[in-house]
Amino acid sequence: MKLSIRIPVVYFVILYVLLSCKQPTQNKNMVIIAHRGASGYLPEHTLPAKALAYGMFPDFIEQDVVLSKDNVAVVIHDIHLETTTNVANVYPDRARKDGKFYVVDFTWEELSTLNVSERFNIKTKQAVYKDRFPIHTSHFKLHTLADEIELIQGLNKSMHKNVGIYVEIKEPQFHRNEGKDISEIVLTILADYGYISVKDNCMLQCFDAVELQRIREEYKSDLFLVQLLEMGYSDAIFKAMIPEEMVAHIAKYANGIGPWYKQMIEGDDKMNIKDFENLVSYAHQQNLKVHAFTFRADDLGGKTSFKEVLKIAENLKLDGVFTDHPDQAITYFKKKNH
Ligand code: CA
Repeated sequence: MKLSIRIPVVYFVILYVLLSCKQPTQNKNMVIIAHRGASGYLPEHTLPAKALAYGMFPDFIEQDVVLSKDNVAVVIHDIHLETTTNVANVYPDRARKDGKFYVVDFTWEELSTLNVSERFNIKTKQAVYKDRFPIHTSHFKLHTLADEIELIQGLNKSMHKNVGIYVEIKEPQFHRNEGKDISEIVLTILADYGYISVKDNCMLQCFDAVELQRIREEYKSDLFLVQLLEMGYSDAIFKAMIPEEMVAHIAKYANGIGPWYKQMIEGDDKMNIKDFENLVSYAHQQNLKVHAFTFRADDLGGKTSFKEVLKIAENLKLDGVFTDHPDQAITYFKKKNH
């Protein structure tokens, strides 16, 4: 009699476990990084775009950093100004021979006078993303890294949250050629605001592998470091390495890698989806996190929906996504069953 009672109980336990395993997996731990703020909705790297992103409660908000002539750390994606500001109208005679207006050629006071716009194509004068915020409208300005940290830390206080910062050092070699050590300046600002170690809710990213290694080994930074990658285009030191060697090398100084996701979904000739799966697998074997860029709901790379793109990210077992549309990624990963 006892046996006949026990067997069904065991059976139901096994059935329950099997059914639990069959539930659709949903990576609620996926790290959502608001790429240049909520840049799908407001001009990138403006404080309003950062405030809007904050209200969506991503895990991190991203800052790209370039230095001004007087060594102010400015939050802007490009090292030049003409695709997101009215610099060509305000300072028409300040372009270099290549026709570009470099941030490093202007003081912060001069940069402060510029208006910021949704990104536009300087040749066609049209918006890069036609369905985004209208170009050359409303009132947006550049801001400093300190301004933005104070915004995020202020909101963390007033909204009782803990959104992190995710800082990219832009083109350190270009800055060095201009006589500037951008890493030293950025690390000092981060330390001043309490971002010193991996525990401080700050990640630091860079494409330049030599520089990132230098940040770890020479500056002895204990921050969470992320090596950005565009396979086949990245840093020269990776060109001679097979992916497994490259990832093992990165693991000596960084905590994560940031690969370019379009190479996986579009089957770029430098990398197909199988290569990408292998890259993620090698990274996880080396205990590196994988935060891929950039997921855009209005640039699907041939896929039919943003959900389909995010599903690929999930299936690839990414640990985080940089996205211009953080609200949609948060809904997908953290709120809905699917
Ligand atoms: Ca960036």
